[in-house]
Amino acid sequence: MFELAAELRAAGDAPVHDLSLGNPSLEPPPAWRSAIFELLADEQPGLHRYMTNAGFEDVREFIAAHEGARYQVPFTGADITMTCGAAGGLNVLAHATLDPGDEVVVPAPYFSEYEHYCATVGARLVPVATRPPTFGLDAWAIVDAISSRTRWVLLNSPNNPTGAIYKSGELDALADALVLANRGRGVPILVVEDAPYRDLTFEGVGVPSLLGRYANTVLVTSHSKDLGLAGERIGYMLRAPTLFGREMLERAAAYCTRVLGFVNAPALMQRMLPKVLAGGGARVDVAVYARNCRRVAAHLRGLGFGVPTPEAGFFLFPALPERLRGDDGGDVTLTERLVRERTVVVPGTAFGAPGYLRLSLATDSATIDGALAAFDRVCR
Ligand code: PLP
Repeated sequence: MFELAAELRAAGDAPVHDLSLGNPSLEPPPAWRSAIFELLADEQPGLHRYMTNAGFEDVREFIAAHEGARYQVPFTGADITMTCGAAGGLNVLAHATLDPGDEVVVPAPYFSEYEHYCATVGARLVPVATRPPTFGLDAWAIVDAISSRTRWVLLNSPNNPTGAIYKSGELDALADALVLANRGRGVPILVVEDAPYRDLTFEGVGVPSLLGRYANTVLVTSHSKDLGLAGERIGYMLRAPTLFGREMLERAAAYCTRVLGFVNAPALMQRMLPKVLAGGGARVDVAVYARNCRRVAAHLRGLGFGVPTPEAGFFLFPALPERLRGDDGGDVTLTERLVRERTVVVPGTAFGAPGYLRLSLATDSATIDGALAAFDRVCR
């Protein structure tokens, strides 16, 4: 869809209203720029060389303390691997822990890149249904999908594409169910939390985690979205100190970081983190994303779409009104009609969810104005 938007732009002068790609539109906060200038002024030799594959020791210690305070879990630097974004972290973890034929259970709809991450290690993604209309977690559906080959349960909260935040009660139920499912298994199932949107919640909504709830949890995150640094590739993997095979996984993560060719996360970005995250932490102005999401949600409801209250991030995943659904969900047809109005969205079918659209609202108001006018023309 991103390529299609580029083609539309090349094919005419009228603006294209592109709501297809989750590329953060907000600039990094001023604290980031000051930290980078300060770091560049330091001319000590060696600051830009290779380091140990897991990342700078002092940065890992800082992250351990910072995240320890957040989750009330006693992490040490050994539990942290610095990564090239969340995508780098997920791939390192996949190579470190998945074998060909292993299964990864994932609530659907899900971030479609997961299929490719699994494919690179010969693992298989096993989607399970969530609870409509809010796409809440269904612990029992997850347990039903578990087989002898299940190695990960992969959670993404706040979720791309749905925006859902999994609730404490849902996670407690999942933790209890997994403890039962692990009985008699040599190696317990790993819960992998992919959390790059956890600091983009609106008005202080919390994002509960399985860290501290389930012993075998690994959280992977990045500052692509909350600091607007998607192109700088900085993130990390946070392993519960209670993890089965804790030390082996620490070494495996460092090894996979090296042999996958990342070698290490970018040095300057690592050194920036303690400066920017200390004292509460700067972030992009989430109020802009909140305003965009609420405005578009209200407008689409007026056209008959079903839209849960947006709580985080910059994606909406509206359900098409009955009259536009047809036999196949209607999302591909509606997407094609919107393209004719120079408006680009992603059909839910791309996420295994016909009958929905995904809209990325990390964009400016003029693009949103144009897109909503196109929705009015097409849907009315
Ligand atoms: N996971 C999800 C759910 C995402 O939406 C994205 C990016 O859009 C990523 C992972 C990858 O993010 P990063 O830039 O941190 O690699």
